[in-house]
Amino acid sequence: MKTYAITGGATGIGAALKELLLAQGDRVIVVDIRGGDIIADLSTETGRRAAVEGIHALAPEGLDGFVPCAGVPPVAKPLSLIPQVNYFAVVATVSGVRELLAKKQGSALIVSSNSAPMIPADDPYVEACLAGDEKIACELIEQRDGHTAYAGSKRAITQWVRRNAADFARDGVRLNAIAPGITATPLTEQVLADEALGEVMRAFAASVPLGESARPEQIARVMRFMLSPEADFLCGSVFFVDGGSDAMLRSDAF
Ligand code: NAD
Repeated sequence: MKTYAITGGATGIGAALKELLLAQGDRVIVVDIRGGDIIADLSTETGRRAAVEGIHALAPEGLDGFVPCAGVPPVAKPLSLIPQVNYFAVVATVSGVRELLAKKQGSALIVSSNSAPMIPADDPYVEACLAGDEKIACELIEQRDGHTAYAGSKRAITQWVRRNAADFARDGVRLNAIAPGITATPLTEQVLADEALGEVMRAFAASVPLGESARPEQIARVMRFMLSPEADFLCGSVFFVDGGSDAMLRSDAF
């Protein structure tokens, strides 16, 4: 039996992954703002500390995997919630459980998005995230829009994975990312309900080569593989699981 911790495991993709892992006899610790084994608001430093301390208390023997899946959509308000949850909470919690992962030579699987490449690497907001400056990142994003806030947070966290994978590997810890496309979850429902972004998402969904959107378990099955011993040489990889959208939009990039 392996032990995994998932943030945002109460609904959507995280909940689907939890079900798959429980079904194969593993233990899953869920951290969420509601409906978890550990209740924590990851937008705050207090919540991040409670999450990390709670995981240490429940799994002192170590973790086989950690998935910081909690995330908020482009329609979240204030916009600063988006970098707080989607970037800074991920870095804080992955760093906070690193020694637990090292104990079991486990892996951390970050949840990016196929929207990540849509924001340039030299965007000042992305650069502030990667510099670890939460105050400046939050101030900058309040002057921008929801799409930039969301896709930029995912761009930054994906670059963080690439920059840190070799360092984590020295402890025997694999750091990887999955970049899902539109997936039918409560997060997507919130975007579809938005007057402006809902229209944009519907148009994007209509262009997905394999069909409009994924079911959460279609993403979770790939995550299960990436976490498993089957993938024990996977390190610093970013898997786009988006029905072909990224290949269609950025055909020459890999
Ligand atoms: P979801 O809304 O179903 O799940 C998000 C979870 O995060 C919820 O359980 C929620 O309670 C939790 N959460 C939100 N804010 C929190 C906070 N401050 N503290 C603690 N927990 C908090 O959405 P989902 O679609 O399953 O999203 C999971 C991840 O997948 C997110 O990181 C999201 O950005 C990413 N993603 C989703 C899609 C999509 O189309 N649904 C596409 C690409 C990436």
